[in-house]
Amino acid sequence: MELMIKNARVTGKSTLVDLAIENGLFADIGPQLERKAERTIDAGGRLVIPPFIDPHIHLDAVLTAGNPRYNISGSHPEGIEVWGEYKKANAGFSDLKARARRAVEWEVASGTLFMRSHVDICDPDLTALKILLELREELRELVEIQIVAFPQDGILAYPRGKALMREALGLGADLVGGIPHCEMTREDGVASIDFVFDLAAEFDRGIDVHCDETDDDHSRFLEVMAARTIRTGYRDRVTAGHTTAMHSYNNAYAHKIQGLLVQGGLNIVANPFDNIVLQGRFDTYPKRRGITRVKELLAAGVNVSLGHDSIMDPWYPLGAGDMLSVARMAIHACHMSGYDEMHRIFETITHNSARTMGISGRYGLKTGNPADLVILDTHSVLDALRLSPARLFVIKAGRIVAETRPAESRIHSGGQEKRVDFEMPEKR
Ligand SMILES: [Zn+2]
Repeated sequence: MELMIKNARVTGKSTLVDLAIENGLFADIGPQLERKAERTIDAGGRLVIPPFIDPHIHLDAVLTAGNPRYNISGSHPEGIEVWGEYKKANAGFSDLKARARRAVEWEVASGTLFMRSHVDICDPDLTALKILLELREELRELVEIQIVAFPQDGILAYPRGKALMREALGLGADLVGGIPHCEMTREDGVASIDFVFDLAAEFDRGIDVHCDETDDDHSRFLEVMAARTIRTGYRDRVTAGHTTAMHSYNNAYAHKIQGLLVQGGLNIVANPFDNIVLQGRFDTYPKRRGITRVKELLAAGVNVSLGHDSIMDPWYPLGAGDMLSVARMAIHACHMSGYDEMHRIFETITHNSARTMGISGRYGLKTGNPADLVILDTHSVLDALRLSPARLFVIKAGRIVAETRPAESRIHSGGQEKRVDFEMPEKR
């Protein structure tokens, strides 16, 4: 045995288990395994989980907040303005690789080992795409990254948009993106989705489209994607991101859409950080939350996962690459603070995202799977969501790729010093 994790608390198991790791795979999982290992880590009853997954991030824009200036209003239109100014001031994206690498390291240190990044291909030279394709290879030891060819300014609305999309796939982008609600007309939006599906079939790639990211309840491209998915049988390989217009659809229409999504087997990715601050900006009061219907979609049986979307960029100024904080935002913004609901949200940053990324077959704490796991400095899923505890060890294919020493707080009172523990003792 290369590595043995002792006394792990694993969801769905009533007793603590040991995880034996050999040749980068889980060789055995069970209570009190009697096997010798080169190295043993005692989890001491702490929670051991499969890695977090971030299925929606924009690595070309991460960590640019303040460069060349901050978004003063915080609005979506000003974010686009600032992004344009950034691109002018940073010709050639000379800072991109260092920024993106740093953001990926934050995610890995926080327990994320799989990411899907959209990359803006509305650039005649495809500079950002080429840099991130290189970085994808350089970081392979740490994290698996899928890259989406993302037409930020539209496929039909941007000069040579179709040719650039095709070129991006030829260079090695993993998925075909789109942004139908930003095309000039409804008809162009529909035509862009047809193009996306045709291109995906031609290159045998998955689809991940920014779809209906607006408060306009007339933005109805998700139904077009769902219908096309049903007709092509592309199923799990199709993902729609944001879908915030669904927040504003009337309930009868939303019900119809949910049925189509279930029938087509599409994945939905909600991005609560960006959408809670960017949507509802044209509202006075009441102000809509602008998040897609996560609770209702999950109840209907749709595969929903959560993305970080932005880390300190012109659209969202905060974030540190921690999927647990994304989950916590979703619990608040989606009214999912019920006991079972919080556990379902935990699934949206783990198993549901694995399905979205098409890696379910090799994901999870199961004998024979790659030994990817995170040891959290806590004892329950709810305390993980509440505390964002230290990721004591992040392990990829049996190798420790990140370690964190937990912080320690002390109270000084009445001449005494006492350690403060934020967990409830009875949870141990
Ligand atoms: Zn996005």
